[in-house]
Amino acid sequence: MTDPIAPELGEVQMHVVKPKAPVIGRVVSSASCMSGRSASFVRHVSIDVSGTPLAGSFRSGQAFGVIAPGENERGKPHAVRLYSLACPTQGEDGDGNVVSTTVKRVVDEYTPQKDGDDQGAHHLFLGVCSNYLCDLKVGDEVLVSGPAGKRFLLPERPADHDYVFIATGTGIAPFYGMVRELLQSPAGPSPSRIHLVMGTPYTTDLLYDEFFRELADTYDQFQYHPVISRSDIRREYVDRYIDRCMDETFRSMFADPRTLMYMCGLEGMESGMYRMLARHGLADGFVEVKEPLTLEGYADWDPKLMKRHVKAGPRSLVEVY
Ligand SMILES: Cc1cc2nc3c(=O)[nH]c(=O)nc-3n(C[C@H](O)[C@H](O)[C@H](O)COP(=O)(O)OP(=O)(O)OC[C@H]3O[C@@H](n4cnc5c(N)ncnc54)[C@H](O)[C@@H]3O)c2cc1C
Repeated sequence: MTDPIAPELGEVQMHVVKPKAPVIGRVVSSASCMSGRSASFVRHVSIDVSGTPLAGSFRSGQAFGVIAPGENERGKPHAVRLYSLACPTQGEDGDGNVVSTTVKRVVDEYTPQKDGDDQGAHHLFLGVCSNYLCDLKVGDEVLVSGPAGKRFLLPERPADHDYVFIATGTGIAPFYGMVRELLQSPAGPSPSRIHLVMGTPYTTDLLYDEFFRELADTYDQFQYHPVISRSDIRREYVDRYIDRCMDETFRSMFADPRTLMYMCGLEGMESGMYRMLARHGLADGFVEVKEPLTLEGYADWDPKLMKRHVKAGPRSLVEVY
């Protein structure tokens, strides 16, 4: 077999603007990116950073920081929260002046997190920064920092590779930027084969769904796979879906040394993929296994040991939170 091609990711700028000295951006758009009524609320928020060092300093796949006003319960300014860029490297405006992200409101019933917390409390719990960001209106100012992240990037020569992008929830953010960068760049669409697998609990939680469906209709090299985990028809997680469609759709991708796999979203989504690729004999370049575990022993991988001993190989790029 030909040696797998490890991606050359090139240089990136990091922390050009530090969270302790953030710059002011201005919201230029805020729109829901759900496909219908849903129990969750996710918005695509675009922020103009022109005239600041952030402008032109980022690449798709990186994240930027948002600092919510006010103080936490200890009287300290709120810590920075990171949000994945949902725009191409050229920004939403094509000139690197407008960054965007896909932000989900954290809305829940309070549950005690540690021993000292009021064990009887069950009030409404609202995440500080996600709700702040979602509440912002066009024209509002917002403190931003970044960029952050140096590995979750498209390769320097994108056409040398094919792509399997796997997202859960707001993990779609970087792929909304990367897919547009690959297919809609002014230089013309990349010939690379691209599969986007998007996992959500319900169909109404699919993000940018219409956009991706239209893109799949337009470009033969792009395939979009929505995967629903709580559907009445078929309940499936992303790794199970890829497993089920392996021979028909994905084997030729994973067996090809050009292919890169990107995963973004909920922590823990990687382990199922690694085990499944090992079972199919397709782990080469995607999974690295350290002793005492072995690749051949995938069936007995202990979930606790996996965290430390089963890692992303050079062709797997992972951003989970
Ligand atoms: C690299 C990276 C990229 C990211 N990209 C995105 C992105 O693109 N989009 C996005 O939406 N988010 C993203 N995040 C997550 C984001 O940074 C924030 O963590 C998220 O928005 C929640 O922040 P918050 O201030 O709203 O919530 P917080 O006020 O920080 O509340 C969340 C915290 O409260 C606690 N908590 C949670 N639920 C409860 C509960 N029910 N009761 C009591 N306590 C609770 C937990 O400790 C949790 O960490 C990313 C994170 C990282 C590290």
